Amino acid sequence: MKALLCYGPEDFRVENIEKPSISSREMLIETIYTSLCGSDIIRIFDPHAKKPAVYGHEVVGKVVETGKEVKRFKPGDLVVAAHHIPCYNCHYCRHGNYSMCSHFRETNLYPGSFCQYIRLTHEHIDKTTFKLPRGQDLLEALFTEPLACCIRAMERATFQKGDIFTVAGAGAIGSLFIQLIKLEGCRVLAIDPDAKRLELSRELGADFTVDPATRQLPEHINKITSGAGIDTAVLTVTNSHILNDALAYLRDGGEIILFGASEKEGRIEVDFQKIYKRELTIKSSYSAVPETVEKAFNIITGKKIKLSPLISDAMPITDFKKGMDLMLKRKIYTAIFKL
Ligand SMILES: [Zn+2]
Ligand SMILES: [Zn+2]
Repeated sequence: MKALLCYGPEDFRVENIEKPSISSREMLIETIYTSLCGSDIIRIFDPHAKKPAVYGHEVVGKVVETGKEVKRFKPGDLVVAAHHIPCYNCHYCRHGNYSMCSHFRETNLYPGSFCQYIRLTHEHIDKTTFKLPRGQDLLEALFTEPLACCIRAMERATFQKGDIFTVAGAGAIGSLFIQLIKLEGCRVLAIDPDAKRLELSRELGADFTVDPATRQLPEHINKITSGAGIDTAVLTVTNSHILNDALAYLRDGGEIILFGASEKEGRIEVDFQKIYKRELTIKSSYSAVPETVEKAFNIITGKKIKLSPLISDAMPITDFKKGMDLMLKRKIYTAIFKL
């Protein structure tokens, strides 16, 4: 079968690899569309990540083969699937840190989504695979896994209805957060240097937008919150400026949700005296769990959020590098490929 192998950040090759075989409790799907996630990009650039490898985990596909014991799906079904499943039993799982669970990390779509056929295990079939309703836009369904990650972050955050959030970075993930925050009955300020992206943020429901290059962020936020400050800051990108701005504009007792870290700026200097005295919280959220995948699926199929502005034409997988570059240069929100 056809697969995109990553040999290095500049070296992608479409090659023929062996099609996965399935057992009686597994099934095979044929990839229709797959999208590139920020976490794939991190792996592509990570010199320690295994290469050559088939990456990718965001997929919409068609069931082509089911094991004897598979009852939930049949060949021809169009599905969306996500990759990780926690054990629900270990110390991490019992504390809600599902993405730290070793079973969670071991459960993967095999061999990845950047290829023609993918094997889903019985756990995927039971917990993270959903049949698309008739007429469902396939490209919109691709956002199930990324949206599930955002929902999990919202569930990890501590907030009340009417609170005010910031979302730093109005890319695809930021645009999903803005809409989730509005669904929770809260207000949101989107922060991004790109005027076009801020325009879309407003269309998606952002109450306020700001380009941090043109205004002093803490002062500006002081003005729009009448001095109260921000309850929760969602950082979809993190660097020294973004983090220290957030620490400055949060209200006392406020919270930062880290949803992305910079490889270039992994170490950032912050004033821990202030964090301590002002009871600020920095919490991270990594990945999704089956429960939030299901919630995301329901939000998308229920058309509760707008996704079409985030979607650009699907490119052939042979244009992988081009798609990744367009995404990195912020010319498109997310790179979508067809097999
Ligand atoms: Zn993803
Ligand atoms: Zn576990």
